[in-house]
Amino acid sequence: MHRFVKTRIIALAALLPAMVAAATLYAQQAAPDLILYNGKIITVDQRFRIEQAVAILGERIVGVGSNQEIAQLAGPSTKKIDLKGKSVLPGMIDNHMHLLRAAETWTNELRWDGVYSRKQAIEMLRARAKQAGAGQWVFNIGGWTHQQFTDDPRPFTREELDRIAPDNPVGLQESYYQVFLNSRAMQSFGIAPNQPDPADFVKGSIMRDASGNPTGVIKGDIAATRPFAARMPHIAPDQLEASATALVKDVNRAGLTSFGVAGCNTDVREIFQKWKEQGRLNVRAFCIGGAAAGTPDQVDKSLQQIAKMKLYQGDNYLDDVFFGESVYTPLHDPMFAVTSNPTPDQLTQWRRMAMAIAAAGLPLHVHAELHNTIDAFLDQIDAVNKEHPIKNLRWVLVHINQINPAQLERMKNLGMYAAVSPWAVINGGIMHEEFGDGAFDMPPFAAIQNSGILWGLGTDATAANQYLPFTTLYFAVTGKMAGGLKVIRQTISREDALIAHTRNNAFFIFQEDNLGAIQAGKLADLLVLDRDYLTVPADQIKDIKPVMTMVGGRIVYDAGAQTSQLAK
Ligand SMILES: [Zn+2]
Repeated sequence: MHRFVKTRIIALAALLPAMVAAATLYAQQAAPDLILYNGKIITVDQRFRIEQAVAILGERIVGVGSNQEIAQLAGPSTKKIDLKGKSVLPGMIDNHMHLLRAAETWTNELRWDGVYSRKQAIEMLRARAKQAGAGQWVFNIGGWTHQQFTDDPRPFTREELDRIAPDNPVGLQESYYQVFLNSRAMQSFGIAPNQPDPADFVKGSIMRDASGNPTGVIKGDIAATRPFAARMPHIAPDQLEASATALVKDVNRAGLTSFGVAGCNTDVREIFQKWKEQGRLNVRAFCIGGAAAGTPDQVDKSLQQIAKMKLYQGDNYLDDVFFGESVYTPLHDPMFAVTSNPTPDQLTQWRRMAMAIAAAGLPLHVHAELHNTIDAFLDQIDAVNKEHPIKNLRWVLVHINQINPAQLERMKNLGMYAAVSPWAVINGGIMHEEFGDGAFDMPPFAAIQNSGILWGLGTDATAANQYLPFTTLYFAVTGKMAGGLKVIRQTISREDALIAHTRNNAFFIFQEDNLGAIQAGKLADLLVLDRDYLTVPADQIKDIKPVMTMVGGRIVYDAGAQTSQLAK
């Protein structure tokens, strides 16, 4: 026998069991409920294959391939949708977002995510004031900065807000950086000339002019904005489900299907739980929570709670997956601090906590932003690792805009992972004011990508950042913040950015077997797009809109173009 032929036969023989298994699988299973064909299916699987068609049965994908291959799976009742060349992506996963907390104010807020015109923002404000009625608050809690306005990137003034909405208290929180109030808002807070500042505000955070008159600006990082956010009207309990519904609709429309959720508020979680039981929860939420401590005494109590903490009692819609996002709160970096100086005493407490978390075998997702903090945490983790190896525990540093290559190498050697929060998507202008040229490397995407560490994207929305995933991808690919200002220099390929928002993020929610790619066996969470992510000019990535969003084989958002067909 010719040597070449022999090799071929052996190779075929080796393949046979797999082929038989695949054939049996197809024979045994029912025909798919739905086939999407004639598309550009960007699978984001390990080989980053591009296919034409995908078959879905129940909540899972049962086939991905050419039009012909997938057509063969169809049965008499299989619905078919002609994608007419449209591209399809896996549902976007945000590895760190305060999704449940957002529901507590969502429909009360005037959101400016994706609004790049100051003129339009003002029109929205005026309309909202009219709709709300005299005396009612018009406000937002972050998610925007004035640098995102392309027509007129200026901060707001008290006088201007008085003119736009004379009959309403107005409070506009710019990220976690500053708040703009009008006169009625100041009145309602008791901020006035010749009056002491209200006690709950951080000393010096209420700006005053040379004569001591308050200007309407509250400024000074998260601590300064917190009293404002706390005073804003939260959604009434009987309206919370409606607010959560609107929020989920908005994120589905934007292309988001799964979240790592920093802090799962009980009231909203109960609503999600109910929806899940009714088969109508349209997002997947994986909670990051735990018993953070603020003092050495609290550490003593937390250590006992850590030992009893139980994760993974849920399912692929709702679960608890990480301890986080704070371990020892005095070491929780503020957003716009230039540097940090963790003390040995604080780090001792941090290490006691981390040691217990490792001893309990828990995964950790911990807030770390500033260079010195990252080094100090890694020193503690080195010590913890010697007693309780963390390699298989999935320990993650989150945010890490100031990380450098040496720190990435340390993390990799420890078997750690990187959840990157691109705060500069809206905060790029502020970060350049605060950090100077260093902001051009915050985050250092290329260094992170080249380090080989497993990493993913998480917005940290809805206060610290905007939540739209195609704006985040645009930022990672072009280095431009919302509105178009070039703010970072380390950009990455659109393929790498996409992987970081899908497949890699599945790992950060413990769903890598179920989510993150369009593959037979995985859950059918996917997006049909109005234009092709891979070929559209880079500046247009932010404008990409899903025309359809699917979660677990259910259509949860449908822009209309597909509706008529899908409804049939
Ligand atoms: Zn954080």
